[in-house]
Amino acid sequence: MNNSNPCRQCGVCCKKGGPALNRDDLDLVRQGYIRHDQLLTIRQGEMGYNPASERLEPVPVELLKIRGQGNSWTCLFLTEESNGCTIYAHRPSTCRLLQCRQPEPLLATIYRNTLRRADLINPGDPILAEIERHELACPGQLFTGLLAETAEDALSRLNEMVRADLAIRAEVAQKTGISLELEFFLFGRPLFKQLAGSGIECVEENGKIRLQRRILPSPASGRRE
Ligand code: SF4
Repeated sequence: MNNSNPCRQCGVCCKKGGPALNRDDLDLVRQGYIRHDQLLTIRQGEMGYNPASERLEPVPVELLKIRGQGNSWTCLFLTEESNGCTIYAHRPSTCRLLQCRQPEPLLATIYRNTLRRADLINPGDPILAEIERHELACPGQLFTGLLAETAEDALSRLNEMVRADLAIRAEVAQKTGISLELEFFLFGRPLFKQLAGSGIECVEENGKIRLQRRILPSPASGRRE
């Protein structure tokens, strides 16, 4: 590898989001360097940031990314004090390609050879059936498509899907006792948290959540007296 642009460990790349794992990273999970509950699934068809186009767009394949810290996208393994990587010797393959001033090798790997949830779960594990049930009830591609529609029918289907998403998560959590972090690996981000930029917002009423179209302020409301 050309090392004329060595990493200065400024941490900027690691703060833009953890890497998506590919098949070369399988042993990192199998050997326990990266745990399932440290991963976030971006399901096929859901909106995700594409570093090549620098835009949010529907992802064409399922992605498993290292989770962020708290509500940020900063990679879970970045130590803020020293900008160091706590799994440096066992970091994912895309991190090895990462050079902020020479991004081409990394960009060439996007959406290629990616790991999926099923690659990290034993074939006989009953949780696979729950993942399939969730996919059938709330397909990522359909959800993203409905967000772009303006018909009232689309809004009611979105409401149904958001409720089905939450119901399946709650049922599985009750049955198996999984943590919230593991839920992010098994079912991805809750749908009601994927509304940014859609003009739809989530409101809570009597302990239940409901989606509604955002009401735009009247242009006249800001006029001078
Ligand atoms: S795994 Fe390490 S090198 Fe890769 S993004 Fe996270 S902190 Fe950075």
